[in-house]
Amino acid sequence: MENYFKHLDFSRYSAIKIGPKAEVLVINQIGDYSKYQIMGRCNNTLVGPNHPKFAILGKEFNYIRKEDDLLYVGCATTSGKLLTYTRNNDIADLEFLAKLPGNIGGLVKMNAGLKSWEIFNYVHSIKTKDGYIKKEDIEYSYRHTKIEEIVYEVVFNIDYGFSKDKLKQFNKMRDNQPHMPSAGSCFVNPESDYAGRLIEEIGLKGFEKGNMSFSSKHANFLVNNGNGTYEDAIYLINLAKIKIKEQFNIDIKEEVIIY
Ligand SMILES: Cc1cc2nc3c(=O)[nH]c(=O)nc-3n(C[C@H](O)[C@H](O)[C@H](O)COP(=O)(O)OP(=O)(O)OC[C@H]3O[C@@H](n4cnc5c(N)ncnc54)[C@H](O)[C@@H]3O)c2cc1C
Repeated sequence: MENYFKHLDFSRYSAIKIGPKAEVLVINQIGDYSKYQIMGRCNNTLVGPNHPKFAILGKEFNYIRKEDDLLYVGCATTSGKLLTYTRNNDIADLEFLAKLPGNIGGLVKMNAGLKSWEIFNYVHSIKTKDGYIKKEDIEYSYRHTKIEEIVYEVVFNIDYGFSKDKLKQFNKMRDNQPHMPSAGSCFVNPESDYAGRLIEEIGLKGFEKGNMSFSSKHANFLVNNGNGTYEDAIYLINLAKIKIKEQFNIDIKEEVIIY
């Protein structure tokens, strides 16, 4: 299938429901796209008016293939589709993908996860335009990887035994998340503390600017209460950073990626 361009309205496409309309490149062929910023399902990103040119992966990268004890997953595949596949094929360890929105490219780039369950724990290798790179050769840590290239495919190690109990547990763990549009956690937890606790301590839990606020349900979620703007989101992010620095001398880092 050929590459093509398509119009995306980021105020609809993104999980936080903010952003302009833009023409994005849909990639169906592996190649050099260094002039473009790759985007997944926009669950962890906030897009402003001066964004770079975006590309997303097309249908050619939406597949799951099992060979021996390895699972080959195209990076346009959603977390929900992979979770269903693991349930249907009795594959263990990826139950934490329940209610963790995104596609496999975004999940791997962010080393997404829940508590000690992180996607990189189960990765065997990734495929970029230069071929396969083994996990041992990739730098990664909590919510971070040093992946600079577009990832087209992720290869997972397989263990068997899908756990319905774990699935229930993971679903329950997310009960405290707000249902308003957001980009997930706004800040990365600093070492041995919680960003949500710090936001609460500086008095910003539930604090509003325009139609954006730090959720009164879970302070580390920056939520859009309806037609919230990029400017108000940035205002709140900067306010929290300044206050946390003043009060705790901590340089808190955004988890949400801002373009
Ligand atoms: C309600 C809600 C709850 C959430 N809960 C959690 C949670 O519990 N744990 C957690 O870790 N995250 C959580 N998130 C954040 C989000 O789900 C993850 O970060 C997810 O990995 C984002 O995937 P995406 O496809 O939407 O990525 P995007 O937001 O589109 O992109 C994220 C980053 O990945 C890069 N990227 C995307 N595709 C590729 C690719 N093919 N190759 C290379 N780079 C790529 C982008 O350039 C960008 O830098 C939550 C988000 C929401 C909205």
